[in-house]
Amino acid sequence: MKIVYSDKHAAHDPQTFFVRGVKQRSTEQPERATRLLAAATAAGHEILPPRGYGTAPAATVHTPEYLDFLQTIARDWAKLPNASAEVVPNVHPTRYPATYPKALAGRAGWHQVDLACPIGPGTWDAALAASEVATTAADLVLEGTRHAYALCRPPGHHAYADMAGGFCFLNNTAIAAQRLRGTHQKVAVIDVDVHHGNGTQGIFYERADVLTVSIHADPANYYPYFWGHAHETGAGAGTGFNLNLPQPLGSPDTPWLAAGDAALARIREFAATALVVALGLDASESDPLQGLKVTGAGFHAMGRKIASLGLPTVLVQEGGYLSDDLGRNLAAFLEGFERGRS
Ligand SMILES: [Zn+2]
Repeated sequence: MKIVYSDKHAAHDPQTFFVRGVKQRSTEQPERATRLLAAATAAGHEILPPRGYGTAPAATVHTPEYLDFLQTIARDWAKLPNASAEVVPNVHPTRYPATYPKALAGRAGWHQVDLACPIGPGTWDAALAASEVATTAADLVLEGTRHAYALCRPPGHHAYADMAGGFCFLNNTAIAAQRLRGTHQKVAVIDVDVHHGNGTQGIFYERADVLTVSIHADPANYYPYFWGHAHETGAGAGTGFNLNLPQPLGSPDTPWLAAGDAALARIREFAATALVVALGLDASESDPLQGLKVTGAGFHAMGRKIASLGLPTVLVQEGGYLSDDLGRNLAAFLEGFERGRS
């Protein structure tokens, strides 16, 4: 399989993460990508660098003011008196009508939904490179490669059009889907990350041309809490074009794979002609975030199942955190996917 990878991700090494109010180093670490790359290389896949696109692909799903914020905030924040090394907001507009602020602290609160998306000096370069990795994989598929895998870091599926969150800044999955939409009339996204793909859902929520389907741990008791519930089915022209399949916490392979069958049935009914897989590996039983209990065999089976759709497919790396199984689970998914193709 063709795998697109850039080592520019390493410029983003977030230090700030809170668990039940306790500050610790983020689980979203550069070593994730180097372990995934090592596993992909060992499995014999072909590694390619991304092409240069600049901000144009990101601008197809993100707002101009948000892109400006991501590019400039770390530099400007560093000039504030007694500023932290990473941009972390201390105020949020939340649920009430609000006015876009000029102050840096206000802009940070507006664009960063939680404390799990600190912006450091290297965040923009890494996020931009990840968007180029995803775009390159999408272009390979548009040029006739049946499937390609974008080894993106930082991940993207929690990022909305104008809001970062949950380790995510630019929505690589949405950028790839929008890229495919340039040629394909109907594109589907299947998100198998343990967390709901809320940013992707939000970006396409009022559209009927991109079907979004997410299989994830039930947000009643798991991040992102506010989104990912079964009753969220789209709005306006997009009504009926978002499907959430929340799973009870700790669910093993069997119900997870059954949810995969339900997702694929909806994608077939939609008649997508191209697919993006938001490939989080954090549903693993070994993942430190402990949402679901999927095994290596489960990832293999899900890869094989999704491949059976027979669609031109872009696989986009999302979550999946450090454990001894991280690389093995990627290799298992990719092997299952390739087997499902033949
Ligand atoms: Zn995740």
